[in-house]
Amino acid sequence: MQCTLCPRQCGALRTNDAGQGFCQLPEGMLIARIAPHLWEEPPVSGARGTGAVFFSGCTLRCAYCQNGDISHRNAGRPFTPRELADAMRRLVDAGMHTISFITATPYVHQILRTLDLYRPPVPLVWNTSGYETVETLRMLDGIIDVYLPDLTHRSEAMGRLCAKAPDYFERASAAITEMVRQTSAGSPQYNEEGVMTRGTLIRHLILPGLTSESIALLDWVRDCLPAGVPVSLMRQYIPMNGVSIKGLDRSITEREYRRVRDHMLALDLPGFLQEPESASADFVPVFCRDESYI
Ligand code: SF4
Repeated sequence: MQCTLCPRQCGALRTNDAGQGFCQLPEGMLIARIAPHLWEEPPVSGARGTGAVFFSGCTLRCAYCQNGDISHRNAGRPFTPRELADAMRRLVDAGMHTISFITATPYVHQILRTLDLYRPPVPLVWNTSGYETVETLRMLDGIIDVYLPDLTHRSEAMGRLCAKAPDYFERASAAITEMVRQTSAGSPQYNEEGVMTRGTLIRHLILPGLTSESIALLDWVRDCLPAGVPVSLMRQYIPMNGVSIKGLDRSITEREYRRVRDHMLALDLPGFLQEPESASADFVPVFCRDESYI
């Protein structure tokens, strides 16, 4: 295929086992982990967990990514649609509340083929950097139940510096608007176990020294999206992946966290606040070992 699935718009050749685009991913699926996962937001993980499929590669590749082995270095094992369908069935049999496709954009076609083979009877979650095209998201309209996009960089300068994506906010804001349109246009729906069955939940990671970007992004959510779209405010940033960008070599301070949290509360945005203990490398899952696959 000549790939234009994400905003990079490489038009690059991707064969079953090699890729020449920005993401360097083949057309065939590479997956780094398929396992129960308890550490997403409560409406996604519930009490028993989400069945998390961590796809190899990423179209954004933030310099500080905590999953650098898979997002930058594409670690993973090849999977066919049939193999992924069988693994999803095992996750459902293990009692997972939801199935989460994590950084799955480069594999949209294979995922649609997989869902033709087996459609799990639980909500499907699209967990993404937010760096998506509206055209690719429209392929998922009516199929994905819950969108879980990051919304991280507001200025062109930070998008360029952190991810070589000066158009990050332009693309992510259009993508999230489309996600909200597809999923209840605002207020999410939940089942009796408190699991989201339809909706969009925006994640924002506070970066050190960049609270003004955080505040501008929260203002955009309040001003430009329908009321009721929840935000998960994340304080887990720790420098990883050998990040060398000046200022991003530390965790956020309590004062920075409070400044953003207080702004979110003042805007009266619904959502979730993260515990301080989450800023730990202990929360990074184990990838690509035999025990990483159910
Ligand atoms: S998915 Fe990969 S190859 Fe396709 S447009 Fe995006 S970066 Fe380029």
